[in-house]
Order: sequence, then structure tokens, then C-alpha cells
Amino acid sequence: MKIKLTKREIEKKQNIAWLTSGDNTATIPSNIAVTKEQLAGLEAAVEGKVVYPWSPGYDVDKREFNNVFPANPLLIVYVSSYQAIQVCLKFATDYNLATAIRSGGHSLADYSVCNGMVIDISQLKSVFVDPANQTVWVQAGITFADLNPALEFYGMHLPGGGCPSVAVAGYMQGGGYGLTSRNFGIQSDCVLEITMILADGSVVVANANQNSDLFWAVRGGTGGNFGVLVSIKYKIFPLGLIWGISITWDFETDTTNAAQALYTIQENYLTGFQYPNLGIETLVYTDIAGDGHKKVRFGGGFIGNENELNAAIAPLMAVPGATVVFKQQGKYSYINDQVLEGIPAIPANQLPTIKFYGRSAYIERALNVNDYKNILQFFKTVPNTYGMLDLEGYGGVINKYPVEQSAFIHRSAILDFYCIVFFDNVTNDQEQNRLWIISLYDFMQQYTNGHSYQNYPNRDQTGFQWAYWGPYYYQLVAIKRKYDPDNFFNYQQSIGGLLSPEMADKQITLCADTPIIRENI
Ligand SMILES: Cc1cc2nc3c(=O)[nH]c(=O)nc-3n(C[C@H](O)[C@H](O)[C@H](O)COP(=O)(O)OP(=O)(O)OC[C@H]3O[C@@H](n4cnc5c(N)ncnc54)[C@H](O)[C@@H]3O)c2cc1C
Repeated sequence: MKIKLTKREIEKKQNIAWLTSGDNTATIPSNIAVTKEQLAGLEAAVEGKVVYPWSPGYDVDKREFNNVFPANPLLIVYVSSYQAIQVCLKFATDYNLATAIRSGGHSLADYSVCNGMVIDISQLKSVFVDPANQTVWVQAGITFADLNPALEFYGMHLPGGGCPSVAVAGYMQGGGYGLTSRNFGIQSDCVLEITMILADGSVVVANANQNSDLFWAVRGGTGGNFGVLVSIKYKIFPLGLIWGISITWDFETDTTNAAQALYTIQENYLTGFQYPNLGIETLVYTDIAGDGHKKVRFGGGFIGNENELNAAIAPLMAVPGATVVFKQQGKYSYINDQVLEGIPAIPANQLPTIKFYGRSAYIERALNVNDYKNILQFFKTVPNTYGMLDLEGYGGVINKYPVEQSAFIHRSAILDFYCIVFFDNVTNDQEQNRLWIISLYDFMQQYTNGHSYQNYPNRDQTGFQWAYWGPYYYQLVAIKRKYDPDNFFNYQQSIGGLLSPEMADKQITLCADTPIIRENI
């Protein structure tokens, strides 16, 4: 016997009554061919909360982590089942509604919102850890804030990102780099199987043996291209406490020591297969919380005991000016937070609507001390004190993974040179920052290998297809056309455009064109 309506059911009844009542005055943009009655039909059919421009809290619901390219969705559907995703896809196809998929909402270029429908899967976040078989199964909307504690309860680990509110769906499909990646790999290297709902509503499972082309493509091909990713099974690793270490060098007046530190990091850890058990992210920033000086901060996560850690970092400690600001042992999630804590500092005057530009380029060859000095000198021209470089250390097992086995191709890089610039609302320097980041990457061309990390998309980046996927781009286009033949899932940097003839000549085909195997559901 059911005697009471749930809160969601009451909300739905109210929404439907409002949508179908003759006297509501809300208007639907003229370029969207959907009526309020049709929206009422969707509302009745879909399992999950629906938010419209006229709903309370809409301004918060439409917000991304970064809001540099804001959108005004006609509706945001927080789906609470796989059927709800199918209902949304059918509705969007029937009414030709632009659609974006959102999980953690951390797309740097705001590719998870659009002015049509946002299918938000953040409520799909179940997790099942199987320590005996060293696997974890998750629904793709789960964030690291929920996943890491579940794994740590069993003493297990999956390499993940720096920020707890990033979701695995977007992160893994772009590769997924983190503090333990040099030891355990890019997150997409750990995937055993995925389940996806395609634009036509059919369900596919992809692994090494079934739909293996899709399995190859989703691991690096980026989200929002092939279908709605709903679940992922990963292999996981036993991991006890780890060490965290942060060491700074001041370069406010002289770049010599800080450049020497960057060179020492490169020579002792990043080239060759040295210390894969030492995860490395080196930040270049302005120490706003401290003395306001420009600094280099080595952030390390070390798997081993304290004596081994001390031996590993001895070359760094020998660089003049080395100041240890953090050294502690703890669970991975704690160390991950602390090593990267507080940097970048988000300008308080932006809150609650954060805005920034980010961009990446890979360094593959060893640089000399003077190169690092030049880079630090360039950084000194950053428009405000909120700009930051994050030199993500590659090498280790990241570079051992065979390049052709997934669409994450950056296997010969030693560093991802990632920059992020927040704007100062008081001085209104957004455009100045946009131009500065373009000039930074122009300057960096002499050091970088022409590729960029696809999880850090930048809308100003031309030639992104080659930058993100190199000689495998046309392979991705073929897989995209097979699984999403109508290009239903598309956005500014989605897969599908053509390459220049010069790049087209360099393309490699990897996957045989076999029929799609759909689940009988
Ligand atoms: C503060 C911050 C910290 C970060 N730290 C790291 C880091 O340490 N390491 C790293 O590698 N990256 C990092 N990133 C980048 C991050 O990995 C990417 O932005 C990632 O795409 C975010 O995934 P999401 O699901 O949270 O974002 P969303 O914005 O929801 O999605 C990102 C993309 O994936 C698509 N997508 C989302 N869900 C699905 C789905 N279920 N099915 C199909 N497509 C989907 C979206 O349409 C969009 O194109 C960081 C980003 C931010 C903003």
C-alpha cells in the first residue's frame, strides 16, 4: 500500500500543473521547437528532478565549476535511472534539442552545458568495491569525494585527480592524471569495462573483447562524443599510507635556484624510469597566503618509508633555497589534498561564480637550466597574482603503457605544462588573461611537442584534433561515426572535423570495423 507522495512526486505534479496551466507567462526561446505541454510530457515520463529557467535555484543548477562560457539550458534533468537517460535522449532526438551530458561539471571549457537539455548524471554514483578481485564498479557520476573513502575503507586505490568534486565520467574519458599516476597509470589505463547508452537509446558494453573499438576510444577520446557513459569497472591496487612532501623555492628576485630545482626534478625523476613511486606536481605561483613572492613548489606523493623518501628527495634538498613546507604521512586522499592545498587561490571577488582559462602543452625533451629560467621569467608577466602553472610530472608507468592501446596518446611526455588563470573582478582583467595565456603557449612552442592534454581543453586552441589525439584522430572519427552516426553529441571541440592535409597524411588506423554488439535490454 502506498499512502504518501514523495517530495519528488509532489514537485513533479506541481511542475506539470504549472506547465499545462494556461496562465503561466514563461516563454521558451524561439529557436527551440518544444512546447510547455511537451515539457510536461517529459516531466511525467522521466525519473529524476527537472530544473527549468523558471525553477527556484536555476542559477545554481546551471552553474559549472568554471563559468567562463556560461549557458542557459532550457532544462536540466538530474536522471535517477538509466531509463531516464533513454527518455531524455528520445525527447531530445524527437524535438531536435541540443544536448549536453554533465557529471561533475568540471569541464574547463564548459562543454557539459548548452542552451538545450543538460542530462546530469551526478545522482548515478553507486560504488561496489571488490577487494578480493581487486576491482571496483562505479556509476559514472561518482566524484572522487565519494569514491576515495569507499576505496580507502578496503585499503585499495585507483589513481584519481587533484580535486574531490571532479567526477570519473569526464575525467576518465580524457585520460585522468593524478598524484599516483606515475606509479599506477593514467586512470583510463585501469579500466576493464564500460557501459554506455548511445544516442538511439541502445545500451552497449565495451571491453577488450566486445566493442573493443569503443573501449579503445572512450579511454582518452573525451566525454560527450560517443554516448552517455553510465558505469565503469576498474582494476584497483592495494595501498597503505603514503608520504606527502612539499618543498618551495622563492624566485621573486632571482630565478637561479628555482630553475635549478625544476631542472633537478626533470633529471632525477622525469626522464628514464626513475622513482615511479614518487608522484610529482610542481606548482609555479604567487604565494598570496604567505609573503606574496613568486615561488616554485614541488609537491610529491611517495609510496615507501621515510628513509626511502629522504633518499629520493636528497638531490632536491641540495638545491639552495629549498624550504620544506609540508611533510607528513597519511591516506592518499589526505596527502593529495595537502600537497596541492590552497593553490591556486581562487579570487574571493569571483565567488560564487568562478571563472578562469586553462590550457596545456606537453614537454617531451629534457630542458636545460636556462630554459627553465626563461619560463620562470615569462611567468613573472602573469596579469594578476591568481595565475598558476602546474607542471604535472609524467614518466613512470604512464609512459610504459603502449601508446596504441587507448586514445590517450601522451606516452612520451615528461611534463604536462598546464596553466590556469583566474580573473580579478575588480580590475576586470579577463581579456588580458585570455591574451596572456595565448602568448604563453606561443612562447612555449620552442619547448613543447605540439600535443595538449584533452582534459584541459581551451576554446582558443586551434588544431586541437592533432594536439589531443595526433595520428589517431581519424580512427576516433571513424568510431564516433559508427556509434553516433547522426553526430547527436557535439560541441565546439567534439570529434568529427577534418584535419589539414599535412596531419591527415600521418593518420594511423588501428581498429577493424566490426558490427556494434548491443545489449538485449
Ligand atoms: C578544479 C579542477 C581540478 C581538476 N583536476 C584534474 C586533475 O587533477 N587531473 C586531471 O586529469 N584532470 C583534472 N581536471 C580536469 C577534469 O579531469 C576534466 O575537466 C573532466 O572532464 C571533468 O569531468 P566531470 O565529469 O567532472 O566534468 P563534466 O563537465 O561533467 O564533463 C566533462 C566532459 O565530459 C562529458 N561527460 C560528462 N559526463 C559524461 C557521461 N556520463 N557520459 C559521456 N560524457 C560525459 C561532458 O559532456 C564534457 O564534455 C580538473 C578540473 C578542474 C575544474
